[in-house]
Amino acid sequence: MSETDPRLRKMFEAVAQAVIAHADELTELDSAIGDGDHGHNMTRGMQAVLGELDALVAKPWNEALKAAGMQLVMKVGGASGPLYGTLVMTLGKSLDTPPTRDGLTAALHAAIEAVMARGKASAGQKTMLDVLVPVSEAVSAGRSPAEVAEVARKACAATKEMLATKGRASFLGERSVGHIDPGARSSQIMIEAIAEQLGD
Ligand code: ADP
Ligand code: MG
Ligand code: MG
Repeated sequence: MSETDPRLRKMFEAVAQAVIAHADELTELDSAIGDGDHGHNMTRGMQAVLGELDALVAKPWNEALKAAGMQLVMKVGGASGPLYGTLVMTLGKSLDTPPTRDGLTAALHAAIEAVMARGKASAGQKTMLDVLVPVSEAVSAGRSPAEVAEVARKACAATKEMLATKGRASFLGERSVGHIDPGARSSQIMIEAIAEQLGD
């Protein structure tokens, strides 16, 4: 099968491998304020994407992202599966192919709006959105990949002192404070991997 764009394979591999490499950490974070399955959930989704990689990379960017998003919905499960699935599927639906900077900015914006609608959440509730929203703003502002990665790192760290008002962690109330949100961390890991692939 011929590849539409060799960058696509490297991007999927980099993201999947980064998440899988941090599975234990994601599980530890989710054990503190959730049910301890985030590393396992994300690994299952990433392995499904890697398993489908040859078929995915034979497609144009937008179709590949739509198909990868569907894999995430089906395989990750939990709260994060439908949310990450919606994010990646909407990126696929919204992205021009091959992607341009303006196209990516608009697609990212649309994808995050879709995640907010799906999860009935917004930034400030100690979720993945607390990384995704500032990242989208940094991309809109024309920041370099390395700068966007730094925004994501800071945003993820900042979830530690936040009070969870969405998802499982919200059941803990004040006891959710003092722990990094697992979904914020998985988002940050994926963004860092993408930024490394994009270079400067
Ligand atoms: P579950 O909580 O069902 O076990 P996971 O452990 O895989 O699912 O994912 C938990 C993560 O999902 C949280 O750390 C948080 O970042 C994210 N999350 C949960 N609910 C929402 C929501 N409504 N909007 C955005 N993100 C959410
Ligand atoms: Mg969980
Ligand atoms: Mg769960």
